[in-house]
Amino acid sequence: MDLQTDFLVIGGGMAGLVAGTIALEAGVSTILLRKGQSATAYSSGAIDVIGYLPEARQPFSSPEEGLIAISGLYPLHPYSIVGYSDDIAPNAVIDTIVNKTRVSIEWLRNHLEEVNLPLHGTFDSNMYPITILGTTKPTCLVQKTMDFGDLHEREDSVLLFVGIRGYPDFNPAAAAKTYLEDRMAIGEPPHKVVHCMLDIAPFGNSFNISSIEIAKHLDHEGSIKALGDQLKEQADQIGTTHIAFPPILGVHNTQTIKSQLETLTGATIFELLGFPPSVPGLRLQRAMDEIFTKAGGKLLVGFEANSFLKSGTKLTQITASSPRREVNISAKAFILASGMYIGGGISGDEKGVKETLFNLMTVTGDYHSASELLPSRSTHRLAISPTGQPIQSCGLSVDPQFRPVGEEGIEWAENLFAAGSILAGYNYSVEKSGLGVATTSGFHAAKNAIEFLIGG
Ligand SMILES: Cc1cc2nc3c(=O)[nH]c(=O)nc-3n(C[C@H](O)[C@H](O)[C@H](O)COP(=O)(O)OP(=O)(O)OC[C@H]3O[C@@H](n4cnc5c(N)ncnc54)[C@H](O)[C@@H]3O)c2cc1C
Repeated sequence: MDLQTDFLVIGGGMAGLVAGTIALEAGVSTILLRKGQSATAYSSGAIDVIGYLPEARQPFSSPEEGLIAISGLYPLHPYSIVGYSDDIAPNAVIDTIVNKTRVSIEWLRNHLEEVNLPLHGTFDSNMYPITILGTTKPTCLVQKTMDFGDLHEREDSVLLFVGIRGYPDFNPAAAAKTYLEDRMAIGEPPHKVVHCMLDIAPFGNSFNISSIEIAKHLDHEGSIKALGDQLKEQADQIGTTHIAFPPILGVHNTQTIKSQLETLTGATIFELLGFPPSVPGLRLQRAMDEIFTKAGGKLLVGFEANSFLKSGTKLTQITASSPRREVNISAKAFILASGMYIGGGISGDEKGVKETLFNLMTVTGDYHSASELLPSRSTHRLAISPTGQPIQSCGLSVDPQFRPVGEEGIEWAENLFAAGSILAGYNYSVEKSGLGVATTSGFHAAKNAIEFLIGG
């Protein structure tokens, strides 16, 4: 099968879907290829913009504070690249980075609201949602179901952590203990934190149930009443004001489930941040797919881009295959948003770090070649290190337009742009910047590609 489009996006995580939607909103016909699962769907679903400087212990109070520090210290960080443009005076670069990041994050928030995935929080400050371990982490925006309301303001607040029998990924007793110890250390409410276990048995199964099974079960009308009755009994006994669930409150009907449980118990219900498999990550992936397709995009899921044609300085065609079909897609501009190790855009082995489709040059976080990087140089002996694993900062080096470059600093093709976790120069796991970088680079790389299309 042969297809033609103006804009072809390779990769359907956050970066690719943002880029594709921006192109569609500019009236550019767009096809997106996604071979499989993305890191976006594994994420906890909170939109981190920038939480820490690598090695720092104190988090940034706001994304703006973080962006100013990052752009001063790391001129090749993806956020810094957003600030490069011919018509910007040097003293306006930092303001440009902050403003362009703010615009892309607000764009994301507004679009998610329209597909019924409202977010809580503001670009003006970082917030500290509670995790399933009972710890907190800095982030910019969380899904509305993670809003714990006045829990930290009310002197009389009583928090109940709820576990589910047969769901092994959350230990409410351990989370309650860790969380209460942290609150006692700073002398802030809540002063009373308790825990309980409830029964939810989707399909009669109460062994090794996954978060996704529970969430899909709760999506069915009628399953909430049984849960609500058990919960009310526990909450009434203790005088609970706030109730924390692991992130299981439905894939589709999350807001309704939250408000039904609040009506039944009279308490504020909220979800904790969790680990994969992640229901909030799945919600985010589905919502982004909906935004893209509603804007008129063609989404080809299960198709892996595996070869290409190039003519002179331009990429002209991608061939992608699924188990049943092969498709040749010609386009005028392309975005590579194929992710890192989970998405599959980058792979690493004992010989080095490679970009998997075009064999583009890869670099380390400090911009040395990574194509022959030995595992001893790309990993720390300590699994958890404040600087993170060096292999996480490897990826593509790009020019100010987000076009991948080779050793001489010349772009590989004038119509190929890159965005998201395939970019070098940042380490999302220590910085807490993953979905923020994916959104901002996807947004602005697509704007650059559109300018190229108009100009060309
Ligand atoms: C466990 C975990 C938890 C995280 N939690 C958070 C969090 O709470 N907050 C946060 O901000 N960030 C978090 N992150 C980081 C964040 O998820 C990523 O930085 C972000 O999702 C990257 O988005 P992306 O679009 O660049 O890549 P991905 O989401 O990985 O998407 C890449 C896409 O490219 C596709 N692809 C690859 N190669 C091809 C090909 N040849 N042809 C077609 N398609 C292809 C893949 O199938 C995939 O769809 C987390 C990451 C992980 C792993």
